[in-house]
Amino acid sequence: MIPPPHGGRLVQRIARPAERDRRKAEFPSLPKLHPFIDQVFDAEKISIGAYSPLEGFMDRATFESVLATRRLPNGLPWTIPILFAPSAPEDQAVVRELRGGEDVALVDRDNRFFAVFHVTEKFAYDKANYAQKTFLTTDPAHPNVADLFAAGDSALGGSVELLDRLDLPVGRFEMTPAETRSHFEKQGWKSVAAYQCRNPPHTAHEYLQRCTLDREDVDALFIHPVVGRLKKGDYKPEVILAAYQALVDHYYPKNRILLSSLTVTMRYAGPNAALFYAIVRKNYGCGMYIVGRDQAGVGKYYDPYACHRIFDELPIDIVPLRYPETFFCRECGWMATPKTCNHPATSRVSTAQTLIREKLAKKEPLPTEILRPEVAQILQEGGEVIND
Ligand SMILES: [Zn+2]
Repeated sequence: MIPPPHGGRLVQRIARPAERDRRKAEFPSLPKLHPFIDQVFDAEKISIGAYSPLEGFMDRATFESVLATRRLPNGLPWTIPILFAPSAPEDQAVVRELRGGEDVALVDRDNRFFAVFHVTEKFAYDKANYAQKTFLTTDPAHPNVADLFAAGDSALGGSVELLDRLDLPVGRFEMTPAETRSHFEKQGWKSVAAYQCRNPPHTAHEYLQRCTLDREDVDALFIHPVVGRLKKGDYKPEVILAAYQALVDHYYPKNRILLSSLTVTMRYAGPNAALFYAIVRKNYGCGMYIVGRDQAGVGKYYDPYACHRIFDELPIDIVPLRYPETFFCRECGWMATPKTCNHPATSRVSTAQTLIREKLAKKEPLPTEILRPEVAQILQEGGEVIND
């Protein structure tokens, strides 16, 4: 069965045309805020229901409940704060004046009024506690912790109403949870497994996807790469989607795959992020969720299998499909795991993205054991990574 959204109801806060026009006409008189790109993405994802049951940015009670208990005040598991703490210098005077009870215009980087924010509360928050409870570290070298320390000191809670969908580089791949649910239904898929990723596919990814599709209790695979704000060394969203499209076109049965993008900023929070991204995919209609080794990890901050255990600690009514480390073994001549292969680690071909990127940078051929030629070609032609 396609599971109900987290909390039972799909949040949809997209203004109808008449309401949208009325709101746009109010623009000159509304206070204006210019969210950091992460919160632009979050505002859109809240409005389309990807973060159901959230209707807006968290108020103090919700934020503190998530940090203290990893649950919303109503008891539903939730592990990542969705906070709005404006940091733009031009916003500080506006934030100082807000008391709660105001409607504010959210303006994107192209100066487009894209959402109305109904502010209910302004509150101070403890950044170190936020970092420690969420990212399990306060190290400013952690990318999300660095962002958090650069955020404003006052957070604003309240509901959001979307006026316009965002204009995104891979916009044609973006879908709303209502759209994917309707697609699954039309296809007759009752059991869809979600695949979380943030890089072009190599054969270890493909191995997990094939093992999953071969299960008798899985009808289809929802490949849903996170392609939000880029950091140094990331592939461009267009490249990640083109690489996946090539894999789907050349190798996969199209009637069992849906490829879509999830434009949000990646949270590297190990187990907490794995659970959060599973909740999001449940909202998109997936009843199963693939969790490999060290999902949503960065550096050495997380136990690589804590992302498996959190699904026992905080059940969210999605079946986690937990896989061990996978690699290509030269002696087996096949994809393998520590459970299926006894050869020494020296027989393994690394699928580390750093190795692939190094070879790309030096214009060396990419290892065919770990990359499909169609994917390798896309990376060689357009796979330059972001360098600033
Ligand atoms: Zn082997």
